[in-house]
Amino acid sequence: MRIFTPGPTPLPENVKISQAREIIHHRTSEFSKVFAEVQDGLKYIFQSQNEVLILAASGTGAMEATVVNLLSPHDKVLVIEGGKFGERWTEINRTFGIEVVVLKVEWGKVARAEEIGDILKQNPEIKAVFAQLVETSTGVVYDIKSIAEVVKETSAVLIVDAISGLGAESLPQDQWAVDVVIGGSQKALMVPPGLAFVSLSEKARELMESSTLPCYYWDFKKAIKSLSTGQTPYTPAVSLICALKESLRIIREEGQEKIIRRHNLLAQATRAAANNLGLRVFGFPSSNVVTAMVIPEEIGANRLKKLMWEKYGVLTAGGQAHLSGKIIRIAHLGWMDNLDILGAISALEMSLGQLGYSVELGSGIKAAEEILSKE
Ligand SMILES: *Cc1c(COP(=O)(O)O)cnc(C)c1O
Repeated sequence: MRIFTPGPTPLPENVKISQAREIIHHRTSEFSKVFAEVQDGLKYIFQSQNEVLILAASGTGAMEATVVNLLSPHDKVLVIEGGKFGERWTEINRTFGIEVVVLKVEWGKVARAEEIGDILKQNPEIKAVFAQLVETSTGVVYDIKSIAEVVKETSAVLIVDAISGLGAESLPQDQWAVDVVIGGSQKALMVPPGLAFVSLSEKARELMESSTLPCYYWDFKKAIKSLSTGQTPYTPAVSLICALKESLRIIREEGQEKIIRRHNLLAQATRAAANNLGLRVFGFPSSNVVTAMVIPEEIGANRLKKLMWEKYGVLTAGGQAHLSGKIIRIAHLGWMDNLDILGAISALEMSLGQLGYSVELGSGIKAAEEILSKE
């Protein structure tokens, strides 16, 4: 099986092996040592001096935890809603009685920083702005740098769900002044699902001090206190943290800049292949994480996805909500190289042809190779 979904992503061999070892107990110096190493590696990924909290949860758990730790009932917040994951921010906030101002963005497009600035001017009581780095449902990447420049001039904090983008796109948290960055294990970090990460700026911690929403398991204050002793308040996902230690080592070996460049080239190659095959790439500006392509109705995105999977063992993602049946999404995320993506493109071409789409075999591959062979 070959996974080309935006999470979970393929695992490096050593990451797999690291989980198969004998369990270590979490209240030991052996674990604290692993934990310290992982902390260090996470700071490298987040490009931040902040301690990074490690939660036993999928990404959404960290999204909810951030809301309950920072906000209070009836607070007003701004959510940039340009896809499925933007909607998730709205849903979580409303679940906790928070008043949400929604900045609706057409799916496949991005919000402009000026619009956000205007809304914050008209609503100075807004406590937080919620965004994605990459809106995985549409494949676009938001301009967090410009958004942060606007938000940092106000009293609001900027909270970024970077679960799919972290590690594949540039997001220097401290340099850009992003208050909260959230990550997950199963995307560019090349670890199985089950860990989520939260990094909080000083400004975010100040907001946390005034929060009155109740929480127990998610309590960031307890987690921060435990961190200083190399621990978590409750039993951590020990095996996943061991796997993370290995993946962070692999990431450091390659280097963050090179990794982002590799993702960018794979993304460019995939888009070039789609264009050459006559498929429209959905969304702009496209991310390094995933390429969404519009599949002609007579072919059918679901039929295509099924054939690629059943005949070639290439697993892609379909569209979500109203894009279901209309697009397929090919992720080029994590442990992936040139030949991997060429394999996926090859399966795409052959499947399209078998479904009656007029395709010149090799035309997608050719466009991709032209980009990949430049480096
Ligand atoms: C994958 C993803 C999530 C998290 O989903 P989980 O299933 O809870 O891990 C959140 N936001 C974005 C943008 C994602 O891509």
